[in-house]
Amino acid sequence: MNRGNITGHYVPTPNELRAWADNPAANGIVPVYPVTLRNIAAELERLQAKAETCLWSQDEDEDMWETECGRAWQFTEGGPVENEMTYCHGCGKRVIHE
Ligand SMILES: [Zn+2]
Repeated sequence: MNRGNITGHYVPTPNELRAWADNPAANGIVPVYPVTLRNIAAELERLQAKAETCLWSQDEDEDMWETECGRAWQFTEGGPVENEMTYCHGCGKRVIHE
């Protein structure tokens, strides 16, 4: 996960949060927080997965849509928009298309 910077505050990665949770004393964290840190790490990963995308490109010669994750898909009519393809069937990421 990319490190971010929200309103000037450092945003730790999920692994950093888990490392702090595993050794709170060394990191100056009150021991009641490790469970919370692990929950935040899991939520960050969930949001990251939701934000990730799979780019679909149309091969007009073959009337196919090829996915960034290496699959292909063909519609009886229309494309991913008309068929409400929100998530890729190959990788589960949000579909974006050219
Ligand atoms: Zn995909």
